[in-house]
Amino acid sequence: MSDVDPAEQLAEWASRGPRYTSYPPATQFAALDAAHVERELATVAERNESVSLYVHVPFCRSLCWYCGCNVIPSRDASAGVSYVDELTTEMALLSRSVHTAPVTEISIGGGSPNFLAPQTMRSLITALDRNFRIAADARRSIELDPRTTTSAQIEVLAAGGFRSLSMGVQDFSEAVQDAIHRHQTKLQTRWLVDLARIAGFDDINVDVVYGLPHQTETTFAKTLDAVIELAPERIALFGYAHLPDRLPHQRLVERAGRVLDGYERATLLLLGIKRLTEAGYLHLGLDHFAKPASRLARAAAEHRMVRTFQGYAEHRADAVLGLGVSAISSTPRMHWQNHTELRAWQHDVERAMLPVARGVSLDNDDRLRRTVIGRLMCDGEVDLGQIGLEYGVDDQTYFDRELTAIGQLGQLATYDATARTIRTTPFGRLLVRNVCMEFDRYHRTAAEAAAASGPQPARFSPTI
Ligand code: SF4
Repeated sequence: MSDVDPAEQLAEWASRGPRYTSYPPATQFAALDAAHVERELATVAERNESVSLYVHVPFCRSLCWYCGCNVIPSRDASAGVSYVDELTTEMALLSRSVHTAPVTEISIGGGSPNFLAPQTMRSLITALDRNFRIAADARRSIELDPRTTTSAQIEVLAAGGFRSLSMGVQDFSEAVQDAIHRHQTKLQTRWLVDLARIAGFDDINVDVVYGLPHQTETTFAKTLDAVIELAPERIALFGYAHLPDRLPHQRLVERAGRVLDGYERATLLLLGIKRLTEAGYLHLGLDHFAKPASRLARAAAEHRMVRTFQGYAEHRADAVLGLGVSAISSTPRMHWQNHTELRAWQHDVERAMLPVARGVSLDNDDRLRRTVIGRLMCDGEVDLGQIGLEYGVDDQTYFDRELTAIGQLGQLATYDATARTIRTTPFGRLLVRNVCMEFDRYHRTAAEAAAASGPQPARFSPTI
C-alpha cells in the first residue's frame, strides 16, 4: 500500500493559474471600441444564434472580506431603483440588434440581486421580457443572499418563472464567519431553501469555500454535513482566492487569521470530495458536485456541460450577453466586458452608447484552444483528433510542444496516441487547470516573461 500523502502531493503540484471561465482569460482583454461590439451583435442576429442573458447587480448590504466579485456596498434601496432604470436603457441598446435572437436562458448575479426591493425586481423581470424574445422554456436563475432575501422577493421571482437559485454559505463556523465578516446562520439558510422549494424552485446550488482562516478538518466537516442536510441539487466547493494586491479589502482577512497554506487547502479539498461523494453527489468538472438526477449531472453525462463566467452550467446558448456594470459577454468570436466602474457604465448608458470597456477577438488559434481547454475543464478529457478535424489542423503537429509537456505531467494526464485523446488521471482531475495551462499560449508567454523579470504580485488563484 502506498504511504504517499495525497494532500502533500496535491500541494506540491499546485501552482497559480486562470480558472478558465473563459479562454483567452479576462487578463487578456484590452481596450475595445463599442462599434466593434455593435458589429458582433449584428452577426449574432444574422446567424440567429441563441442567447443567454446575464444581468449583474453589483450592490451588497455589506462587504464580505474574502469577496472577489465586483461589489458596491450600499444600504440605499434607491440605488437599486435607478440601477434598474439604467439597466432597462442598456437592454434597449442591446436589443436594437438582437431583439429577434432566441433567448434560452436568463441569469441574474452579483453582488446580491436581492438588494433590489420586490417591486424593483419585478420591474427588472418585466423589462427583460419586453426587450428580448425569451423562449417559453428559457431557464431563469438568480443568486440570492440567505441573510437578506425576503418571502416577497421569492414570490416575485417564482411568478417571473425563476426556478434555479444559487446561494453562498462558505462556512458555518462562527470563528470563520468572524474572520470573513459574513455572519449567516443555518436557520437563515434552511429558511431560504424551504421557502424556495415551496415556491417551486427545483434547482438549488450552495457555495462552500475552503482555505479560509480558522477552518479545520473538524469544523469544515460540520459545515459540509450541514450543507448536505439542506439537500441542494448542486454544491460548489471553491478554493479561497486570496489576492490582496488586487483586492485590498482581503487584507482584513489576513488580519483576522492566517490564510491556510497549500497543504491545509488540499486536506480540506480531499475531505470535501470524500464527504460529498459519500453523500451521493457526483463530482463534476473541477469543483462542482451534483445529485445524479440533477440537470447539471445529466448535462455532464451527455457532454453538454460548459464552463462559463459563473462556473459550470449546462449548454443552453451560443452566446452570453451581459448587462450591467462589469458584466462579461461572450460569443463564438469574441469576449467583452462592460465598464467595471459604476459611473463610467452610467455615463455611456445615459448617452445611449453600449458601455463596453475592453475585450478580445478570437482568432482561429484562440477558438481551437478554447475548445480544447473547455472539454478538459468539463469532461476531464479531450479528443484532439476530432478537434483537429473540425479546425482543419493536424493535431499532432499543431500541438507538438503541448503533447511533449503533457508527457511530462504523467501523474496528471496521459496522451493516447491511437485515440489521439488526452485523459486526466483521477489525481490530475483535481489539477486540471495545470493541464489546461499547457494549452494556454498567453499563460506560457506570461510565464516566460515572469521567469525573465523576477517575482511578480500574484494575478491568479492557486490551482487547488
Ligand atoms: S454577499 Fe457575495 S457578492 Fe456580496 S460581498 Fe458577500 S461574497 Fe461578495
